[in-house]
Amino acid sequence: MAIIRTVRGDISPELLGVTYLHEHLIGYSLKPDGDIDLRLDSEAAAATELHHFKVAGGQAVVEMSPADYGRSPLILKRLSEATGVHIISVSGFIKGSSADPLVADKSINQIADDMIRDVCDGIDDTGIRAGLLKAGSSLDKISPNEEKIFRAVARAQKETGALISTHTEAGTMALEQIELLRSEGVASERILIGHTDRKLDWDYHVAIANTGVTLGYDQFSKEKYFPDSQRVDFISRMTKAGFGKQIAMSGDLASSSDLTSYGGGPGYTFILWRIIPWLKKKGLTPDDIKMLMIDTPKRLLSIEG
Ligand SMILES: [Zn+2]
Repeated sequence: MAIIRTVRGDISPELLGVTYLHEHLIGYSLKPDGDIDLRLDSEAAAATELHHFKVAGGQAVVEMSPADYGRSPLILKRLSEATGVHIISVSGFIKGSSADPLVADKSINQIADDMIRDVCDGIDDTGIRAGLLKAGSSLDKISPNEEKIFRAVARAQKETGALISTHTEAGTMALEQIELLRSEGVASERILIGHTDRKLDWDYHVAIANTGVTLGYDQFSKEKYFPDSQRVDFISRMTKAGFGKQIAMSGDLASSSDLTSYGGGPGYTFILWRIIPWLKKKGLTPDDIKMLMIDTPKRLLSIEG
């Protein structure tokens, strides 16, 4: 029987509901000189953001801060208990620059074993289990440590059945990530390539979609990279081209200036209140929207128990 592994335990996939597939509630660089705007460390602010999300119709959040980015499973569990929003925590690493000190001395199998333990037994000694896996690469390259992590995450995927959700730097190296994971025997259906909307090139997106993976359109509201009008346009075109099942929507709000709870914006209501109506205006049907917000997250996060 399939389950979805949340920080409060396993749930039936039917109970997941409206989901953002790539966000940060508590997350920060482990380096002392890390960008202060990228430091999310307030449990109270995260709770406020989740309340807003719930008011807008949200039911589940995938928290993509792994071990190299301040992952805090106990806080996530408290937040989920306090708000009733399902939270899924992640095992793995973002990318080389933050992961290097944590993996440099480890073998592929040791890294894989750590990930498998996070998913099957629990993170550290909390008993709180991760519900998906993460690996990532640098701008225009996959460093040797990143390659090691990709091979490890592939082994952990095959062992656990959990989804692999990746970080790409500015959308680069998507096809290389896919090739590497598939060479290790991972099925495309179990791969979500993150941040592809940092590189809105139609032929590139079709080439990625043709491999069968899911594309992360997870930078909504970040107009400094691309205007939302282009993200909306791409999702509408991808849906019409038959790739509607391979789109994962989210905002990846990782800065305090992105969150209303810290005095910034647009916050967790933005996609549900602003982007979904826009997609409807572009011709997406209620079934298309249900696919984006409910069916695809449910399919991706389901683990065969
Ligand atoms: Zn992120």
